[in-house]
Parts: sequence; C-alpha cells; structure tokens
Amino acid sequence: MRLCFGVKTQQLISRVFSRPVNRSAVRWRAAQTRLACSSSTGEEKPRPSMLRHLTFKIKATGPITVAEYMREVLTNPVTGYYVRNDMLGPDGDFITSPEISQIFGELLGVWIVSEWIGAGRPKQLQLVELGPGKGSLAVDVLRVFGQLRSIVGGASLSLHLVEVSPVLSRLQAQNLTGSRSREADAEDEPVYRRGETAVGVPVSWYRRLEDVPTGFSIFLAHEFFDALPIHKFQRTQKGWREVMVDIDPEKSEQLRFVVAPSPTPASSTLVQADERRGHVEVCAEGGVVVQQLARRIVEDGGAALIADYGHDGTKTDTFRGFKSHRLHDVLSSPGSADLTADVDFGFLRRMAGGGVACLGPVTQQTFLKNMGIDSRMQVLLRNCSDASTRQQLIGSYDMLTNGAKMGERFHFFGLLHHSRLAKPTRPEGLKLEKKKSPAPLPVAGFTELSFS
Ligand code: SAH
Repeated sequence: MRLCFGVKTQQLISRVFSRPVNRSAVRWRAAQTRLACSSSTGEEKPRPSMLRHLTFKIKATGPITVAEYMREVLTNPVTGYYVRNDMLGPDGDFITSPEISQIFGELLGVWIVSEWIGAGRPKQLQLVELGPGKGSLAVDVLRVFGQLRSIVGGASLSLHLVEVSPVLSRLQAQNLTGSRSREADAEDEPVYRRGETAVGVPVSWYRRLEDVPTGFSIFLAHEFFDALPIHKFQRTQKGWREVMVDIDPEKSEQLRFVVAPSPTPASSTLVQADERRGHVEVCAEGGVVVQQLARRIVEDGGAALIADYGHDGTKTDTFRGFKSHRLHDVLSSPGSADLTADVDFGFLRRMAGGGVACLGPVTQQTFLKNMGIDSRMQVLLRNCSDASTRQQLIGSYDMLTNGAKMGERFHFFGLLHHSRLAKPTRPEGLKLEKKKSPAPLPVAGFTELSFS
C-alpha cells in the first residue's frame, strides 16, 4: 500500500534535497564492504602480543568462549583491533554505507528530524551514536540539522558518541570539531573527551552507553551490533554445547575451535527452549544494549535506529573476519583483522520487550527508497555535469541500494516510544461517531513514501 506521508516529512526531505551538494556525495567507491569479499590468500604476519595474551589466558583458565575471544581481540584496551586501528576506508579492512556516500547520512538526518517532530518537538534533543567510526555519519546528520535550522533551531541539540577506540575517537573529534575538543584530564572520567562543532553543538565521548546522560534521545547504531561479542552453540546428542576457543595441541602458535564437553553458564541460559537450528550465535551483549535503549526510550522518550547486516533468527554460522577487504580466518593472527557476526534482529526484538514499539527489520533498499533516495539522486545528477562524478554517484547509489550488494543484506530496525504510534486522542466532548480517529504520523523509512 502506498501511503502519503505527513506533509512535514515531505517538506523536510525536499528542503534538504533541493540544495546543491557542498562536496562530492561520493566518498570513494572501489572498495569492498564486509559482505562481498574474496578470501585472503597472502601470508599472515603473526601478531605475537595478542596471540601470546590469548594463549596465556587459555593456559591459565582453559578454553575461552567465542564471546570472550571476540571481546579480547576487538576491544582489549591495549592490543584490541578497534582500539589500535582506523579500519575504515580504502586503506583499511572494510567500507561502510556512511563512508560510501553522504546521501546515506543525510537521509538518516531527515529521519531523526522527522521523529523529533513526531515526538512533539521536545526542547532538548540528544543525538547519541554508538560506534561512530570516522564520525562521517554524524557529520552528515549535523549538516541536515544546519539546513533545517528554521525547523529544529528551537531545540537544544547535543551530540553524544559511544566509542571504545581512542584512535577512532581522535579521528571523530577532528572531523566533527576540528581543533575544538579536549581529552579529559583523568583516564577514568566517564566523559573522556569534550568538544564543540563549528556551529557550537556540544559533543561528548563515552566508552559505555550507561554513561550518556538521560533525556529525550535519538540513538543511531550503524554497523555497531555486528561488532559485539557472540556466543556460539552447537546442538549435540547430549544437548546444546558451547563452542570454545582452545590452543591447537599440534601447533602451539595456533588456535582452534572445540565444543565444551558439558553445559556452560551461557549454553544453559542463552539458547531458546524451542530453538530448531543446529547451530546458533547469541549476542548477549547486544541484548543488554537493546534493553538499555528500550528502557531509556520508555523513561525519557525518543527512538533508536539500528542498521546492520543480519537476519531474523534464521541463520547459523556467520562469524567471520575481514582484513584488507578480504575474508580472513577468524582464529588466525588475532588482532590483525576485524571480526563480525550477522545481527539476529529476532533476538534484539525479544530483548527490547513490549515496553517499546519495534519496527522492521526492513531492507536497506526499502528504507532508503522510502526515505527518498531516488529523488535525491535525481537532484544530484541534474546539478552535476562532470562525467566521472556522475559515474561515481551512480556507482555509490547502486552499492547502497542494489539487492545483490548492500541493498538486501543490510536491514533497518527501529525502536519507538509507544506514544509515537498511538492514535491522537479526540478533544473531549466531540461527537464524530461515524468518522475514524486520525491515524498517527507514519514513521519515515518504514513506510512507503509518496512524493507528489
Ligand atoms: N558506524 C561506523 C563504524 C562501524 S565499525 C560506520 O558505519 O562507518 C564499529 C564501530 O564501533 C567502531 O567505531 C568501533 O570502534 C566501535 N565499537 C566496537 N565495539 C565497541 C564497543 N564495545 N563499545 C563502543 N564502541 C565500539
């Protein structure tokens, strides 16, 4: 069914989209995402410190869970992959949608403004991004806020970034604030960096979501949940058993997967009683984050938009590594490559509980088209005469929306306060028996948009 959007959302989109681009809408194009990659063939240089750390740990306490392995490899405060590297872009290990085109972040910016309007234009608006990478998405979202100043100008806007990586947080600070940011004096401060953008939007950095102040917030998490540690479980004749990481007895410099001989705390609690698959991955940490988001939305209002590759509780073994835009063995040379697993949106929906409304998941192609990406492309192409830039624009559009590329593998999932979807109440005393109550404003992106 084709629904007409609230006039306000259409106006927002046309205001943002009728403007010329400040810079190329294409950041770069010829790289791989974490979806379509060939396998790494090159010889691996061992990364002794992480491997040594893991083998010491395993020798001391026995095989470790995949979740512990993933957490150590990715976010160990000294040697973790995310803590030490800038992994995004042509010289890194993978590319993400906000890095492919600014159009992506602009459309998410319009979504945020439209949800802020849908929530009754609260005076305070906290924009919270989990795992902001280079900060490109936040830059593009804030530019939309600048363009819509006449609409959102009355709100007091602040940006809150949850980022575990000191390297990436410095890059984010550079991109968002130039030189207008400063690290906290003490290492254990919950806000470890503060700054402000050129137009005075305050920006704060935290390591954990718990440290972000409460208040009406719109949360963004793009390719964040797939980086959180997963537990892996195997169905056996004796019941569910957890997959663990051990040292290979044949080669002491190599790790291998083993199946725990008896139940572990995780295998006893995390697998659903009616589970039908033979192998499952459960991201307990992702479940906790979604519960925190849901609680905050219930208590303070707001919404969350989660975008990632994933499935609805159907896939089995998705744990994989990426290095230099190629698939990489997850147990080889730990700390030198990204580790990731598809997000189970069915699990996230269960963890969110009934206190919030869950929307989606819908495919990235559907979401971006509903948000008006085609109209935006038409405007950009109309204003662009350079053949190679046109080619790049078309290439990035194709990468984001083509079903065989990112269009169908990536999904958008939303959490909203229930009041956002409630029918507006009729004024007391009005008797309009035959007429239905007006429908709530549709939620942009999750509902098909009609441009008239
Ligand atoms: N959202 C960005 C980056 C995705 S990569 C984009 O789409 O381009 C994952 C991001 O999450 C990185 O910024 C990484 O440092 C951060 N991250 C990974 N694990 C994290 C954790 N446990 N807590 C906070 N940030 C984390």
